[in-house]
Amino acid sequence: MFTLVDLSYGKDALEPVISSKTMEFHYGKHLQAYVDNLNKLLPGSGLEGLALEEIVKQSSGAIFNNAGQVLNHNMYFTQFGAETEVKKEPTGALAAQIVKQWGSIDAFKEEFVAKGVGLFGSGWVWLSAQVDGSLVITQEPGASNPVTKGLKPLLTFDVWEHAYYLDYQNRRAAHLAELWKIVDWKVIEGR
Ligand code: MN
Repeated sequence: MFTLVDLSYGKDALEPVISSKTMEFHYGKHLQAYVDNLNKLLPGSGLEGLALEEIVKQSSGAIFNNAGQVLNHNMYFTQFGAETEVKKEPTGALAAQIVKQWGSIDAFKEEFVAKGVGLFGSGWVWLSAQVDGSLVITQEPGASNPVTKGLKPLLTFDVWEHAYYLDYQNRRAAHLAELWKIVDWKVIEGR
C-alpha cells in the first residue's frame, strides 16, 4: 500500500509562492487521489510489491498514469521548503556541472523555465542525470517520469494547471519563475 508522502514543512510554509489553498488541493486531494487509485489498481496486476519506480518503468495505461503521478509528486513536493530555510543555490559537483553545460546557474534556470512554459498541455519539466554524469532537461507529458528513459531524475516543476491555477491563473511562466525561491538545492544535490 502506498501512502501520501510525508512533508518536512507545514501547509503554509511555501507561501506566497505556493498558497496553503493550493497545497490543500494539490497535495491533499490530487496527490491523494493518485495514491488511492494506484492502491486500487495494483492488486492482481502482477506489479504489487514492487518499488514505485519499478512500477512506473514496467506499467502502462491507468497504472502507469497513477504510479507516475505519485512518483512525480513525491519528488516535486519533497524538493521544496520555506523560503527562509532552503539552500538557495547549488554548490559543489552539481553546480560545476550546471555551469559547465549552461554557462551559469541563471542561464540554466532560464532554460528550465522556458522548457516548462513551452510544454504543451499537462506535464512536467525535469532536470536529470545521464549515466555518464552529464545533465539533461526533458519535457515529460502527462504522468511520465525520466526513469522511463533510463535517466536519474533530480528536480522537477509541475506544469499541470492544478499546480498553479488557484494562485497564478494562466500565468504559468510567472509561477515557474517564483518556484526557484522554495527549491531546496540540498535535496536536489542529495538525489
Ligand atoms: Mn500536480
